[in-house]
Amino acid sequence: MAGILVMAETRRGELRDVTLELIAAGRELKAAAGDRLVVAVAAADPSAFAAALGADGVDEVLAVTTPTEHFEPHVAQQALEALIAAERPALVLLAHSIDSLGFGPAVAARRNLGFASDVTALAWDDGPVAVRGAYGDKLRAELDFPGKDCTLLMLRAGSFPSTTRTGEAAPVRAVDVALEDARSAHVAFREPEGGDVDIAQAKFVLAIGRGVGDDAGKVAEFERLAERWGATLAVSRPLVDAGWVSAARQVGQSGKTVKPAVYVALGISGAVQHLAGMRTADTIIAVNTDPEAPIFGVAHYGAAADLFEVAEALQQQLG
Ligand code: FAD
Repeated sequence: MAGILVMAETRRGELRDVTLELIAAGRELKAAAGDRLVVAVAAADPSAFAAALGADGVDEVLAVTTPTEHFEPHVAQQALEALIAAERPALVLLAHSIDSLGFGPAVAARRNLGFASDVTALAWDDGPVAVRGAYGDKLRAELDFPGKDCTLLMLRAGSFPSTTRTGEAAPVRAVDVALEDARSAHVAFREPEGGDVDIAQAKFVLAIGRGVGDDAGKVAEFERLAERWGATLAVSRPLVDAGWVSAARQVGQSGKTVKPAVYVALGISGAVQHLAGMRTADTIIAVNTDPEAPIFGVAHYGAAADLFEVAEALQQQLG
């Protein structure tokens, strides 16, 4: 078995951004994995995504037409199993997402594949090597998959760079797969509370942590500061646990992974579970009164200072 198969994700007629991260990750391993990278999309109208999926380094886009308008796990499972049988890839890449968790592990178990979820880094050493957190992200585990001809890895969104197409789009091949459509049916999309904010998309994040103290009213002040500065407010978990801020704004292992151009962390210590969600930001600026705080270990710029003094100075700068 050789080559890499990426399974695209779509929702409500849109390609999900994580797909371009899967393609970029696959491209890094392509030469070692057998010099072939194909991207499959299973959707009611797969042709709508073909051009975007034929990114640089992609050899072919495989288009599977589904009988269902929206994602159904059993349909995706059948499509992926058929694609693995036909294409015989050495590595299959899926997003570690709510949709793919509905069928990826099942495919791996049914076909006796190597498997790892929530993968944050990849390498190739005579086969795929996956890096993921262990013991609540306190340890970094490197996994290989001896004796497996094919391995399925689910990659954490925001942990890999993205890609765009600059050259010619890859050729598209329609793949006919017999897909059953009656096992479950999509009813409706329901937005979570606070769903108006998608911190994962923000280019500039102002994040606050327990350093803001015990006064819930401070959150509104930092929300205004973020707005004036053109940033999106995010938080560490204690502020969500306290019920001060919606979970949609939590960064970290049990929150969201963000990858902005700039991440400003005010009064956040830098616990491993928080770092898991922001360490790949392009520029990290940390403000913390404790010069030994672990956040300074990942920060590009740091100030051992009182966050309220820094916030006040910023307010004055902004006029
Ligand atoms: P603290 O660790 O209490 O740090 C507060 C910091 O503020 C300190 O460093 C202090 O020096 C500084 N400070 C205090 N006053 C000031 C001031 N006036 N000016 C400047 N600095 C000041 N956490 C997350 O954030 N996201 C997650 O997704 C997440 N998931 C988790 C999952 C699991 C399974 C577990 C066990 C934990 C998880 N946590 C998560 C919690 C995590 O372990 C930490 O407890 C949490 O990140 C700490 O948040 P904090 O840095 O805001 O608070």
